[in-house]
Amino acid sequence: MMTNEELWKAVLGEMELSLTKANFTTWFKNTLILSKDGQSIVVSVPNGFIREWLQNKFNKRILDSIRGFSPEVREVRYVVGTPKIELKTTPKPFLDRDLEEKVIPDSLKDIDKYTNLNKKYSFESFVVGSNNELAHAASLAIVKNLGKLYNPLFIYGGVGLGKTHLLQSIGNKISAEYKDSHVLYISAEKLTADLIESIRNRTIEDLKNTYSKLDLLIIDDIQFIAGKERTQEVVFQIFNELHGKNKQVVLSSDRPPKAIPALEERLKSRFEGGMIADIGIPDFETRLAILKLKMLEKNQELDNETVTYIATNIQKNVRELEGALNRVIAFSQIYNKPPGTKEVKNILATYLNNPYKKASSQVVLKNIADFYNISPSDLIKRSRKKEIVRPRQMAMFLLREETKLSFPEIGQKLGGRDHSTVIHACEKIKREENNDESVKQELVMIRERVYNSFDK
Ligand code: ADP
Ligand code: MG
Repeated sequence: MMTNEELWKAVLGEMELSLTKANFTTWFKNTLILSKDGQSIVVSVPNGFIREWLQNKFNKRILDSIRGFSPEVREVRYVVGTPKIELKTTPKPFLDRDLEEKVIPDSLKDIDKYTNLNKKYSFESFVVGSNNELAHAASLAIVKNLGKLYNPLFIYGGVGLGKTHLLQSIGNKISAEYKDSHVLYISAEKLTADLIESIRNRTIEDLKNTYSKLDLLIIDDIQFIAGKERTQEVVFQIFNELHGKNKQVVLSSDRPPKAIPALEERLKSRFEGGMIADIGIPDFETRLAILKLKMLEKNQELDNETVTYIATNIQKNVRELEGALNRVIAFSQIYNKPPGTKEVKNILATYLNNPYKKASSQVVLKNIADFYNISPSDLIKRSRKKEIVRPRQMAMFLLREETKLSFPEIGQKLGGRDHSTVIHACEKIKREENNDESVKQELVMIRERVYNSFDK
């Protein structure tokens, strides 16, 4: 008799042979047999999208493959979720996955280690429409008159509308045109983390010194420093120093300076002292143009009807527009033919049906695990190691705060722990949040990630 683990490994082996590596990884990464009960097998998958695909497109192939090893099996069900039961006895698939997740994604390799700039963002790859005309024009203008025209340039707008893209384009353009220039792109989140560390190491003067040498400082998502007094203090100092020397500062935020809560008045007035430009939601023409440009970049063609369907239905977020396009392209590659209208509808269903997602426990757990550089399954394990216990307590606390789960349900999600354990953890972290600045920061950072991942 094969164990579930051996059986799934054998099935995966067959799947791997019949698919391209990229497709195999896309559809079968992080899957495993959760249980086998006579004729029926339950396979756990990482998300609803993959469940749909395995169910609708791969089910027959998977079932045939399973029956090659276990002929008694009649049906396979796919469930979304973190496996609990198997973990204690067979942690192997997770070790494999852990390794895989440590591999640096391609997109990170393109990041310059001095400027933090990613070459893929350029003015050439930015589509100008009525929604971003002003922000785009202002960005070009400061490239031509660095530090002399609008200082700071403050760009604001909703998630996924191209703020980072524009900011990075400015940085890349300046770096390319002036080889000796000192440019730094940094997210306010990273800046805050750097600050905390330099305070701890007593190197804050070095840090300020480095910043004071810049010709162009770009801080992305500046709203993140709201409520963080120490960070605001240092940002204020750095800003004044650079501004006083006519060195350019560029900032982005999800809202205008006035509307950022818990931001000191003196910073608000500094941020308002240059040019403020907003980016709005792209109109249909712009969405279409963006899709066409992205297809060119990816060297992929889709028929007009499909492209129009995507542009018509995904309106509020360019990142989602691109994500939708990628899914449709993935379909074409797997089946070697473009999807029909009905299939396109299916593929995009996740975007169309959930315009506003809530934090799910999965999102919370995934972000906590990422944050602490462990795997989500570690949170569920029976481990008492300090590196695990602490994140697990954070998980309990944040599940309580960010989802509607009850104490017993949270215990259940985290490997069947008692509700009193959960209550204890929640009280402990709450106390620390109130009394310990660094814990407070830590929680802000994790929350930020959670919120960002369900905006996408
Ligand atoms: P934000 O920082 O506002 O959340 P991003 O700059 O990260 O948004 O944009 C999300 C994605 O959409 C990126 O891949 C970006 O390249 C793309 N994008 C946004 N606006 C445009 C545009 N006008 N032209 C081309 N690509 C865009
Ligand atoms: Mg951004």
